[in-house]
Amino acid sequence: MAKKEKDIDVRFGKFGTISFTSTTKVNDFIDRLEQGKVSGTKCKGCGKIYFPPRADCYNCFGKYMEWFDVSGTGELVTYSRLEYAPVGFENDLPYSIALLDYGDYKVFGRLESGLSQDEIKVGMKMKAVVNELPNGHMNYVFKKA
Ligand SMILES: [Zn+2]
Repeated sequence: MAKKEKDIDVRFGKFGTISFTSTTKVNDFIDRLEQGKVSGTKCKGCGKIYFPPRADCYNCFGKYMEWFDVSGTGELVTYSRLEYAPVGFENDLPYSIALLDYGDYKVFGRLESGLSQDEIKVGMKMKAVVNELPNGHMNYVFKKA
């Protein structure tokens, strides 16, 4: 019997400026964003931490994961200001992508818009926060801590 449309979990279609997939094995990530949480997963078998979240562990091949919330502050490792963007992101330009180091894991994402180049310093403390986009989708951005 064919699967009914309503049975398909398309939550991931709400992620980001444009989402190229609506279904993943970590669709609960979207529910957690709606609750104001930016989350990764931790393998119950070997303890490996994943961000972005994964449902399967490539380290021990385990499939039992638990969610954790990205909390506190991370240190800005690096960033890049984009003047060109992939298809679907052209209207967001310019924007900056960045990497925060939280110690046990790193988080890749965007800097909040509106930060001047003078305000951004490698090594500065930042925090990942949930952000609602004009199209009703959600993502997360890095703000100054
Ligand atoms: Zn594992």
